[in-house]
Amino acid sequence: MKRVYNFNAGPSAMPLEVLKQVQEEFLDFAHTGMSIVEISHRSAAYQAMQDDTVCMLRRLLRIPDGYHIVFIQGGGSMQFIMHAANFLKHRGAYINTGVWSDKAMQAAAFYGETYEAASSKADHFTYIPEAGSAVIKPDTDYVYITSNNTIHGTEWHDFPSCNVPLFCDMSSDFLSRPVDISRFDLVYAGVQKNVGPAGVVVTIIKDSLLVQANSQLPLMLQYKTYVDHDSTYNTPPVFNIYFVNKVLHWLDAQGGLKEIEKRNIQKAHILYQVIDESDGFYKGHAVPQSRSRMNVTFNLPTPALEAEFVAQAAEASLIGLKGHRSIGGCRASIYNAVTEEGCQALAAFMMKFQKNH
Ligand SMILES: *Cc1c(COP(=O)(O)O)cnc(C)c1O
Repeated sequence: MKRVYNFNAGPSAMPLEVLKQVQEEFLDFAHTGMSIVEISHRSAAYQAMQDDTVCMLRRLLRIPDGYHIVFIQGGGSMQFIMHAANFLKHRGAYINTGVWSDKAMQAAAFYGETYEAASSKADHFTYIPEAGSAVIKPDTDYVYITSNNTIHGTEWHDFPSCNVPLFCDMSSDFLSRPVDISRFDLVYAGVQKNVGPAGVVVTIIKDSLLVQANSQLPLMLQYKTYVDHDSTYNTPPVFNIYFVNKVLHWLDAQGGLKEIEKRNIQKAHILYQVIDESDGFYKGHAVPQSRSRMNVTFNLPTPALEAEFVAQAAEASLIGLKGHRSIGGCRASIYNAVTEEGCQALAAFMMKFQKNH
């Protein structure tokens, strides 16, 4: 078996230890003599695992009392709809930092008035606006942000404070660092970037927000349905939740989110240093103070060189370095499961490639 260095943006690298463990347990989940994909989601064995998953999320993220954690299908894109369906009554404010916040705002517009409270669109989403620069109109129901901009390679390092509920799409940096959940009213993360296989979203919702939700919606669109039925109103994505459970235990065994953050800072530093010391051969997309620790985006002098870079890297088992089709260039996604060794291998390749060109 040959494993490559995987820099895919999502779905993306998962911890090898977890993949092996899942493989090992696949035929016999928790001594039931059945696979996790074969047992009832109403069984005690399943319920214990799901409870433990919620418990681990609470512990790792230090989620305070007064919040519920639920599992929802439909990906991040379904949350673009649900957050507005449930909570957009007068107007929703969006801090537009990239393709995903743009899409969330467009999806939300179906339910009411949306507006950009701040935006870095005019500068090709190269930076995160100053937290204090957002202009919030009267009767705003919530402010919506995207903590990490997967496509553009920017990340909030200091979250805004506002006097309306704060919503956050954390899909691409969820569990990559400690976060003070008490600053948010609604947090969600599609797990396929950092935490598991595509097919489930973790949504964390504050009880004081939940009681204000629109109750005139189809049940499957109401957060309350997921909360009231402990995510099992209908069949939850059992395998995905099980996999997330394994990743959470892996994170815990690594030393938790403080430790993982430390490693992520170091990994990102390895790559940004190559970019900064390349005399402009590699040009980072993001301004330095807004750089993402998860997605390192950069350009080479020409699109032809970028294509050659991606192709040669793949030959060297460095996979997934092509930038998103909407902005081009190159992107190295270095989520939790990407090792420091992987980042060093890429850094060495980048230096060699520059020398040869
Ligand atoms: C990938 C991504 C999404 C979209 O998720 P889907 O599950 O494909 O709908 C949303 N937000 C962010 C920040 C992402 O990185």
